[in-house]
Amino acid sequence: MRAWILTIAFALATGGAGAQEGVDVKRSGLRLLPASTVERAAAQQYSDLMRQAAQKNALNVDRRQVERLRNIARALIPQSTRFNQDAQRWKWEVNLISSNTVNAFCMPGGKIAFFTGILDKLQLTDDEIAAIMGHEIGHALLEHGRARMSEQVMKNVGISVASSLLGLGQLSTELLAQAANLAVSLPYARSQETDADLVGIELAARAGYDPRAAVNVWKKMGHGSSGSAPGQAARGQPPQFMSTHPSHATRIKDIEANLPRVMPLYDAAARKS
Ligand SMILES: [Zn+2]
Repeated sequence: MRAWILTIAFALATGGAGAQEGVDVKRSGLRLLPASTVERAAAQQYSDLMRQAAQKNALNVDRRQVERLRNIARALIPQSTRFNQDAQRWKWEVNLISSNTVNAFCMPGGKIAFFTGILDKLQLTDDEIAAIMGHEIGHALLEHGRARMSEQVMKNVGISVASSLLGLGQLSTELLAQAANLAVSLPYARSQETDADLVGIELAARAGYDPRAAVNVWKKMGHGSSGSAPGQAARGQPPQFMSTHPSHATRIKDIEANLPRVMPLYDAAARKS
């Protein structure tokens, strides 16, 4: 009887028995490399990048913007275990790099970076930053980087060699670093983009940021930066957001179609604050 009452209460709270709350995504792709190996390699890559930025006096220069990013991250991160339990033990970091590059990323294990170019050129609101950060965190939670790194390692040494080296713990750090780098500098697949969008709008909504801002972000991306072709991102120059996150015609439509699933979460979060 009690369970029945709870069910009714839940159905009412979520707007009727037929309404589905939250988005529908699944992790997919090859995961040859253990998460711990991937996270260690990514953490190393990330700290190298941050050290290089610091040497150029380009790390966290604008304290106000750094705090802004970290506040948004603090709201989004507690929502992330819903999509990946491991996120609970991740050592999250959020840093801002001074660079005209229009880019942002979240490496495996929760290592987030924004470039000042994306904040300035797109004149992002907090809701829009939450949309981009949520999208990036989505890639990390769904382990798109881990799948990508696994592919890279296999391409380099072959699956049988990779598996045996993994058993012996002998994959070279150089090879892993290279794979970690490629994991954030190659374009994602269309299905991965859609899934990251959906995770992003749910994280944002639960954290009290307007998930509708995601639509605006992609409109701004389309107009704001010309971006570079995927192939151009290879050497020296950091990739632009549009080259690592190729847009597609139905992206905005897919986001809009999923907004009804997350708007109640946003409304609930807004009522709480
Ligand atoms: Zn993406």
